[in-house]
Amino acid sequence: MSRTSLAERPGPARPVFPIRALMDITERPDNVFVRGRGSWLTDHEGKTYLDFVQGWAVNCLGHCPDVVIDALSAQARELITPSPAYYNEPALRLAELLTSHSTFQRIFFCNSGAEANEGAIKLARKWGRSRKDGAYEIVTFDGAFHGRTIATMSASGKPGWDTMFAPQVPGFPKAVLNDLGSVERLITDKTVAVMLEPVQGESGVVLASSDFLRALRALTRERQCLMIVDEVQTGMGRTGTLFAYEHFTRGPEDVPDIMTLGKGIGAGVPLAALCATERVAVFERGEQGGTYSGNPLMTAVGCAVMTEMLKPGFLPHVVAAGNHLSRRLIELVSEFGLSHERGLGLLRALDLGSDIAASLVTYARDRLESHPGWEHRGLLLNAPRPNLLRFMPALTVTPAEIDLMIDGLRLALGAVK
Ligand SMILES: *Cc1c(COP(=O)(O)O)cnc(C)c1O
Repeated sequence: MSRTSLAERPGPARPVFPIRALMDITERPDNVFVRGRGSWLTDHEGKTYLDFVQGWAVNCLGHCPDVVIDALSAQARELITPSPAYYNEPALRLAELLTSHSTFQRIFFCNSGAEANEGAIKLARKWGRSRKDGAYEIVTFDGAFHGRTIATMSASGKPGWDTMFAPQVPGFPKAVLNDLGSVERLITDKTVAVMLEPVQGESGVVLASSDFLRALRALTRERQCLMIVDEVQTGMGRTGTLFAYEHFTRGPEDVPDIMTLGKGIGAGVPLAALCATERVAVFERGEQGGTYSGNPLMTAVGCAVMTEMLKPGFLPHVVAAGNHLSRRLIELVSEFGLSHERGLGLLRALDLGSDIAASLVTYARDRLESHPGWEHRGLLLNAPRPNLLRFMPALTVTPAEIDLMIDGLRLALGAVK
């Protein structure tokens, strides 16, 4: 479909949305999405879609949850932005919630995962300057994704990213995930930290093993390096625990020094956090900040989101839904002779064994309508690699919605394979 075809579509009269004014930064379908509720999105033609992308693992409570609407509207009537140089109540409350339910004592709020990771990089470098003789290198991993600023792109291990906006920010040697020797070989007296995602999300749901993470923690301790976990995707209940580091820690000796949060913490609004232990939180006044840092409008949402997640039954539901999704995907693996499924909680992937992921995404979105039960409906899926689908539904997704997704995916597989 051509980029202007939207205005020329047959059907009921619709407002015309000019799309040329936006920078063309990614391939996008022609649909314009106008409304969302729970696991469903509606486009400009009134067609509804079962959404297993959820803003890239962002909408942990689904689209437009009441608790977010209520928190936003109540807070908007009270106070939107006093200044990051003044205290406000929601920021204080959210920092208290995060520190009392994690291993960290100090929080800095910001607006995106990349910004939180930039903060983590700065904090580690500051720590190296003041506590480790000027050490500044941070070992990161092949396949890692830490964001789209220049420094976080340099920390990322996506193929091609090293040259895209060269020169990179120096000081991010790359190791191989689950290969302790590859980390050990890169650690020198210039090394200040090792930074990684407990589950690599963008590279296709690649899990760091618990043994590797514990060994990495032991190694970093022994070499006086910090351990930074980027939990922008894995944090806030996504893997079935509040934070993914909880899966590998067995005691205080295993906990990381720094954690970054984004995506789910705002359930759809721009909010992120840099969390550090007291020992490591060495920023001095003037070294870190941001106009919208900890603004009450967003942190009020963060409080509402966390309050939901702390209700008994919320995380057990994520675990049960993740197991259900896993079982149902495994059925498709044997039915269609696919490679395998993997994941943790509600961050899962289906390895298709061949490069049909893009065709499946298109079919599920645009062509399910001819099948009974899918009239005027579609299914939104994500293909981070040519042979791979990634599933990141709302954490509140129901078993019936998972079954419906499986039904749509089965139809798509039948048509495409
Ligand atoms: C999405 C993501 C980021 C970047 O977050 P933005 O909010 O897009 O800046 C960083 N790290 C991980 C692991 C992510 O999944």
